[in-house]
Amino acid sequence: MKTHPVALVGAGPGDPDLLTLGALRRLQQADVILCDDLVDARVLELANPTARVLHVGKRGGCVSTEQRFIHDLMIREARSGARVVRLKGGDPFVFGRGGEEADALRQAGIEVEIVNGITSGLAAPASIGIPVTDRRCTPGVALVTGHNGESGRAPDWAALARSGLTLVIYMGVARCEAIVAALMAAGMAADMPAAVISAAHTPRQRQARGTLAGLPQLLQLEGIASPAILVIGEVAALGAITALPMAELRERSA
Ligand code: SAH
Repeated sequence: MKTHPVALVGAGPGDPDLLTLGALRRLQQADVILCDDLVDARVLELANPTARVLHVGKRGGCVSTEQRFIHDLMIREARSGARVVRLKGGDPFVFGRGGEEADALRQAGIEVEIVNGITSGLAAPASIGIPVTDRRCTPGVALVTGHNGESGRAPDWAALARSGLTLVIYMGVARCEAIVAALMAAGMAADMPAAVISAAHTPRQRQARGTLAGLPQLLQLEGIASPAILVIGEVAALGAITALPMAELRERSA
């Protein structure tokens, strides 16, 4: 039996407007879709209606379905001849364990195709007008995790504080206080602009802006929960006026 390549597909942050044409085509052709929790329901609605959708949820970097189980399932489905799409929030290769899954498939002799998605760390700041690499403020951006994962290495916060890069922090809500303390201990200014965007590009989107020192309190006051992106750096003060997410803009013009 012919084994099709397994496609590791990025679903983007939420709104299907941010889906690539490649992702859409794979979804329309899929027989089986293994889907993460963070994938927006509106994206799944675009998939082949006869495809079997298996929810193999993972939230905030915690593994709620054993990673091993996901590997075995993908391999079994691919070997049965099904067109398998492994659908992940954002981009499959940005904090999505896409690398581990691709390795497991290749080791099983199954071809892998990567279909990039728009990562939340870029889409969330942009949704409130923050240009993460604005050259007037910063030489670049670092995408880092705020979660001290089992095998993952924690970022060197002191080095990042000195780097002058915009910090875009995934999975940072729970450890926000410790992150802020580490950055300030390394000399980052207490009044460095900071922003947080949760559930970006979904109807539940929330955002708030403030300063580095005020960030933990801001999260509490605004009741902001995961999934959220923290943005720390001069750019977090930019673009305050264009703060309308795409979905809202569309609703208003409808
Ligand atoms: N592969 C994903 C990231 C998965 S890690 C991507 O490229 O976007 C999970 C973390 O992503 C969450 O804890 C949160 O920090 C971030 N995230 C995912 N979707 C988000 C969204 N719609 N809005 C804000 N943050 C989001």
